[in-house]
Amino acid sequence: MSELRKNYEHFQEEKKRWAQIPLTRKYFLDQESRYVHPFRIFGNVWYVGDSWVCVHLIDTGDGLLLLDGGNIGATAMLVNAIWEAGFNPADVRWMVLSHGHLDHIGGAVFFRKMFGTKLYLGEPDARNYREHPELSLVQDSGSLGHDVFEVDHEITDGETIRFGNTEIQFFLVPGHTDGVISAFFDVTDGERTLRAGYYGGFGFNTLQKSYLDEIGDTEYEMRKTYLKSLEKVRNQHVDLFLGNHCVNNDTLGRAQRLRAGDNDAFIDGKAWGEYLDSKKKALLELMSDPNQV
Ligand SMILES: [Zn+2]
Repeated sequence: MSELRKNYEHFQEEKKRWAQIPLTRKYFLDQESRYVHPFRIFGNVWYVGDSWVCVHLIDTGDGLLLLDGGNIGATAMLVNAIWEAGFNPADVRWMVLSHGHLDHIGGAVFFRKMFGTKLYLGEPDARNYREHPELSLVQDSGSLGHDVFEVDHEITDGETIRFGNTEIQFFLVPGHTDGVISAFFDVTDGERTLRAGYYGGFGFNTLQKSYLDEIGDTEYEMRKTYLKSLEKVRNQHVDLFLGNHCVNNDTLGRAQRLRAGDNDAFIDGKAWGEYLDSKKKALLELMSDPNQV
């Protein structure tokens, strides 16, 4: 067998192997089936994510900002969604990553290399990229995973950054990872100005006993850290709760209402507090689960 043929066979075997891993199969194959036609949420905020991982586009008047980087392996869809929304991907000046996991950094390296987009990530996750890249979970996506990367700006707790016409206040809300960010900013549409709120990582996958044992957090401190983070931003005033994953704010249900003519489908003064409270309740339940202690 020729070397070329051998390489080809090896590659096919690798692909089969990855396709057999349930997690890889569920989250990283057939991503095209998750394409969502982009839509405007309110003012200068657009939805350009898929049906699982949210990405928001803010037209700052001085360049575009992407809030999060999309799933790994889904960058072509992200680029298409930006075009379909009526924008040029080359105008994306900044990408603010919610946290350092593989389903939120998909477009980061491509945008940086192709368009010179500046990458922003919470300081603790940027540090983990240097010291503990295995915590990024990039290994879970098989051949889709590229290496972790250096960012252009490491976000610190309480930092306020101006991007064109939009000033964003950031707080670190560790728990799901060490460097999850939350973001708060005003959005104006005609006469109305609303406060948008974003919480960059809610999943309990990294709070499971098996995971915490694996990374050496034997006292399960990360769960307490998570509860403190919820408390820290719980009483922020938020009219417009932006999801990190669609399940957080029923992105797709609200999108349907929006398309049916309900312009206020995403405006909801209670959604933020109610969702954070529901996560607190669920985490306390997990912490008292005999299989988790
Ligand atoms: Zn994550």
